[in-house]
Amino acid sequence: MAGMIGIVMGLVLLGLRRSYPPSIRGMRLWGTAPLLCASSTLFYGLDGVLPAPLVALVGNALLLTGVTLFLLGSERLYSLPSSWRRWATVILGALLAITFFMFVYPDYRIRVLVFSGTLAAIVAKHARLLGRHGNRGFAPRFTAMVLWGQAAVLVCRAISTLWLDQADTHRFTQSFVQTLYIAAFSFSVLLVSIGVLLMAGERVRAEFEYLATHDSLTGAHTRRSVLAACAEELTRWSRYGSTFSLLILDIDHFKRVNDAHGHLAGDQVLKRFVRLVQSHLRSADRLGRYGGEEFMVLLPETDSAAAQAVAERMRAALDATPGTADLPHCTVSIGVTTVQAGDPTVDALIARADTALYEAKAQGRNRVRAG
Ligand code: GH3
Ligand code: MG
Ligand code: MG
Repeated sequence: MAGMIGIVMGLVLLGLRRSYPPSIRGMRLWGTAPLLCASSTLFYGLDGVLPAPLVALVGNALLLTGVTLFLLGSERLYSLPSSWRRWATVILGALLAITFFMFVYPDYRIRVLVFSGTLAAIVAKHARLLGRHGNRGFAPRFTAMVLWGQAAVLVCRAISTLWLDQADTHRFTQSFVQTLYIAAFSFSVLLVSIGVLLMAGERVRAEFEYLATHDSLTGAHTRRSVLAACAEELTRWSRYGSTFSLLILDIDHFKRVNDAHGHLAGDQVLKRFVRLVQSHLRSADRLGRYGGEEFMVLLPETDSAAAQAVAERMRAALDATPGTADLPHCTVSIGVTTVQAGDPTVDALIARADTALYEAKAQGRNRVRAG
């Protein structure tokens, strides 16, 4: 049953691959993995029809490869360098050792030790990878937990063979322990498939969330995201009295940049501007694109004097950045405001910052004004 559900899970993963964005990588490997694990079960079922050594070797090869594909899929998802060469070598080495202990020095126990030990190593490597690179989401943690359980079962199998089995035991000798191991392993493959399916889902959600909260050109937050953060700060201020400031930045004569150098150069100027502003911010500050060449910066726990100082540093840094043939020199005007008693909504702050910005423009641009 577990094997059959494994096949279904593999097909689901492969099918979903088409409807997920191509940036969610590794799904083809993840989808193929349970299919290979399930086909190894089917292949073991051919015992008696095909020669026993062939059944054992091909079945083992399919299972080792299937378990490795789960690992390679996760490496792809996290854009890590692929370790397929290393694991191909390990798998080949294990199969050669199993062949040796089948024909030259037949001993079932050593074969189990080599096979289960190799599987456990691959599974443990995968669990460690998820522990390190998976974010704190539920899916990678769930999958890592299942993988550690799977590795524990395999290690128990490898060790227990020393006193459960004899050198001439045959793989398909029916025993309760043997059946228990096979069932536990098949079930864990099913759980790993569910785990990676959840991981892909979590990734899609995280990507969409990023797209919804970040500007695609500059990587700054979207206006909605900064306004939401401002509203939170306003609530914090009214509850706990923690002050905050807001800057509105407008690049001076930006239309001229577009007119003289083209829109692509204009886009590069915007990107450079965002990088420069970000380099002046602390981790709690939030930079957003208000629209066009206008940006806003939320500065939590910052009073008016400190906010003006930050704004002045940004203005001076941009003014000091020399232009090149492709990236012309630019300046910025900044309106600064700080939350005040009686500010009912974020709009009141924006209106004040806007008035200050208008003053800066009217007084000749390339300056900071507070309101
Ligand atoms: P001022 O000093 O008064 O702010 O003048 P300005 O030219 O900067 O202001 P204006 O509002 O007249 O022009 C803004 C220009 O910004 C117009 C628009 O074409 C350009 N713009 C808006 N968004 C983008 C963008 O994403 N890329 C590029 N290249 N240009 C943009
Ligand atoms: Mg403007
Ligand atoms: Mg402008």
